[in-house]
Amino acid sequence: MKRKIFLLYGGKSAEHQVSMRTALAVVQALDFNKYEVTPIYITENGQWVKREALESPVKQLNDLIVQPTKKEENSITLFNNSKTNDNEEPPVIFPLLHGTNGEDGTVQGLLEVLNLPYVGNGVLASAAGMDKVIMKNIFAQAGLKQVDFVSVLRYEWEQDKEKVYQLVEEKLTYPYFVKPANLGSSVGINKCRDRNELEKAFVEAFQYDRKIIVEQGIEAREIEIGVIGNEEPKCSVVGEIVPKAEFYDYKAKYEDRDTALIIPADIPEDTYETIKQMAITAFKVLDCSGLIRADFFVTKDGEVYINEVNTMPGFTPVSMFPLLWKHSGVDYPQLIDRLIELGIERYNEKQ
Ligand code: ADP
Ligand code: MG
Ligand code: MG
Repeated sequence: MKRKIFLLYGGKSAEHQVSMRTALAVVQALDFNKYEVTPIYITENGQWVKREALESPVKQLNDLIVQPTKKEENSITLFNNSKTNDNEEPPVIFPLLHGTNGEDGTVQGLLEVLNLPYVGNGVLASAAGMDKVIMKNIFAQAGLKQVDFVSVLRYEWEQDKEKVYQLVEEKLTYPYFVKPANLGSSVGINKCRDRNELEKAFVEAFQYDRKIIVEQGIEAREIEIGVIGNEEPKCSVVGEIVPKAEFYDYKAKYEDRDTALIIPADIPEDTYETIKQMAITAFKVLDCSGLIRADFFVTKDGEVYINEVNTMPGFTPVSMFPLLWKHSGVDYPQLIDRLIELGIERYNEKQ
């Protein structure tokens, strides 16, 4: 009997397109002898559209875009008759979603309520990992080294912009990185060297979120590591990102062919050990399960700062996370299998 897998992709998120690419790659890597694969496309407006199980892997991105037909279709009715008889195992949901309404605990909450097994992080880790301010507060509590930061609400800024800018300038020294608190893929992120750029960066970041984070900018190498597991998480080798652009912005992530991914990263053994330990600590304090990619800054002096974790990292075969595992002896189809297993294990433990 094939295990049913429901792929969730697209999504009401600024990272919709990224998710589509991931979905195409995952469909092509899943073993159709082992799994029955049903696509569930979430439109940019947040409508869920399910189609029949696929006969074979689709080849084109366009084949994954399904237009909504029935207005009344919604996420709950889609799952209602997913189990045809009592002996049948429930489908495993694979949320290939990045950013808001997918990577942030909302979809995970829905799946918890419906009592369905799913791949990746649970509600708490997803939500905490999506909010850079909450995440950094938890990291601080755990003693993980990170850059200084200030968090600002749109409401505070609208009340008195000058006061907010002064507060930031008192606490941090230029350059800064201004980011929407709840996003990924570098969307809405800007580096600011002076007040003028700071003002522009605030306007842009507040288009995406009611809360933003301003961080101390640092000169450093960007080193990333993969972690998979539930109770006993394991680390991959480390990789380095070398963007041609001034920083690893959206374009450098998805459009430039010049961004180099160096795997394994050439760093001293003790730095690697530090990164592994910090990544495992981050995984545990955020109560993660399944997978994360933990991202670090390493300065010239060898100081290691945690930047963030991503609870649903970029997941195409040429993305850092799958490549890190490939270099650690786990290829793309094996990685997908392992993540599905981990999701089922976590679900079974709770039943
Ligand atoms: P996202 O979740 O969108 O990936 P990040 O916090 O990782 O957001 O920031 C995106 C990129 O911006 C990083 O990969 C890095 O290139 C640059 N960056 C972010 N914060 C800093 C910082 N404090 N100092 C230097 N570079 C930074
Ligand atoms: Mg991120
Ligand atoms: Mg990042």
